[in-house]
Amino acid sequence: MSGLSAEVPDLVCARCDKPLEMRKVEASYLGQTFPVELPCCPSCGFVYVSEELASGRMLKVEQALEDK
Ligand SMILES: [Zn+2]
Repeated sequence: MSGLSAEVPDLVCARCDKPLEMRKVEASYLGQTFPVELPCCPSCGFVYVSEELASGRMLKVEQALEDK
């Protein structure tokens, strides 16, 4: 095997069958935009959002904002 450049070897794009790479993307939630590092497909631009991020971390962001 050559060309091992993937930083996220466990994750593969279902569409392209290519390994996802960690990239900084902008996530938006409730009108707020913030940079996050997520595994992205270098071919089609698919961004993998884990359930942990989608349901856990995002929810904390929402709660933190509402507490103020
Ligand atoms: Zn892809």
